[in-house]
Amino acid sequence: MATLAAAPPTEHVAAAATGRPNPPITGLSWAALQEVLAARSERPFRTEQVVRWVYRSTITDFAPMLNVPQALRTWLAETYAFSSAEVVTQVASADGDTTKAVLRLADGALIETVLMQYHRRSDGTGADRSTVCVSTQVGCALQCSFCATGLMGLTRNLTAAEIIDQALHFLRRTRQRPPVVRNVVFMGMGEPLLNYAACLEAVARLCDPLGAGLGPPRLTISTSGWLPGIARLANEPWPVRLAVSLHAPTNAVRDELVPLNRRYPVEDLLAACRAYQAQTGRRVTFEYTMLAGVNDSPALARALVKLVRGLDCHINLIPMNPVAELPYAPSSDEAVQAFHRTLRQAGLIATIRREMGRDIQAACGQLQTTVRRRPLVQEHSS
Ligand code: SF4
Repeated sequence: MATLAAAPPTEHVAAAATGRPNPPITGLSWAALQEVLAARSERPFRTEQVVRWVYRSTITDFAPMLNVPQALRTWLAETYAFSSAEVVTQVASADGDTTKAVLRLADGALIETVLMQYHRRSDGTGADRSTVCVSTQVGCALQCSFCATGLMGLTRNLTAAEIIDQALHFLRRTRQRPPVVRNVVFMGMGEPLLNYAACLEAVARLCDPLGAGLGPPRLTISTSGWLPGIARLANEPWPVRLAVSLHAPTNAVRDELVPLNRRYPVEDLLAACRAYQAQTGRRVTFEYTMLAGVNDSPALARALVKLVRGLDCHINLIPMNPVAELPYAPSSDEAVQAFHRTLRQAGLIATIRREMGRDIQAACGQLQTTVRRRPLVQEHSS
C-alpha cells in the first residue's frame, strides 16, 4: 500500500519559512507519523493519541488534544495543517437530508463533497444512515456529456489527504448531528480509478480500526469504466464495493454519454465486471442516470436485462439533476417506473434512487461552478 512519505521536521520548518502552507497531518500514514514523532523523542503511544483525535473526534484543530502535551500540540500546529481543505460554503436541501460543501484546497482549487442522510421509514423499514460522496480529482478528463464536472476538464488529482479530509469533514459533523457517517462513496468529481494510488491510500486510512474505522464493504469506488483499474481493484486486500456508471446498455447510446466507452466498449466493460465478480465474489452495482428520450426507452430496458444476465448485480436508477448548460432533462416518473418494472420482472435487483438535493444543485460539479462564478453563496443552516 502506497503511503505519503513523512517529510522530516526540518523540511517543514523550511516550508514555513518560505511561506508554503504546512502539509496536512492526514497526509501521513501511521508509520510516517510514528517516525516523525520518534524523531522528536515522543513516546510511541503519542501516535495513537494524535490519530484518534484526528480521525475519531469532532475537533478541527490541534489545540483541544487535551491528553497531548502542550509543547507537542504547539509543534504540531506549527508543522502541519489539521486539514487540507477549508469550507467555502455549505448548503443544505430544504428537507435537510442533503448537504453539499464546497471546499478550497491549499492551491485554491475548489472541490465538492456531499452528505446524504437517510431515515427509517414510517412503515419501519430502512434505517437512519449517512453517506458521504467524495471527489477524487479537481475536474475530470472524461467529459461525460450529462455531467457538469465533465465540462471543466481535469485540473489535477487529489491527494489521499484531500480525499480523507472530505470524509472527515462530514464524519465530524455527523458525530454531533447523527446519524453518523458509515458509508463513503468515491463518486463525486473525477474518475477514482484514474487517481488509483491516492484513492486506495484513502481507503486504507478510513478503514483502519485506529483511524476512522469504517468497514471496507461500506466504501464504494465508482468508475465510468476504466478497465485497468477494475482489474487492479480485484487484487486489493480491501473488500470495497465496485459501482460502474453504465447509463446505457448499447454502444450507440453509451458512446454519446460516456466517451470512455469508445475506448472500452460495453461488451468489454461487462466482461471486466464478470471477471471482477469471479475473482472477488462481490456484487457489482450499475448506476444508470435516467435521461428523458435518451436512455429510458422500453427497448433499452430490455437490452439492459440481456446485457447483465447471469451477473450478480444491483441496478440503481438515478433521477437526473438538471444542469443548465447541458441538453438533457430528467426522465418522467412514468418512464422511470416502467424501466424499473421491466428490470424487476426479469428478476433483477433494481432500485430507484430517491431524488436528493435538486434544490441545492446536487449534481456533481454544479455548485462548485456556481461558487466560481459568484464567490459567495447563501449559507443555509442545517
Ligand atoms: S460522470 Fe464522473 S467520470 Fe464522467 S465526467 Fe463526470 S465526474 Fe468525470
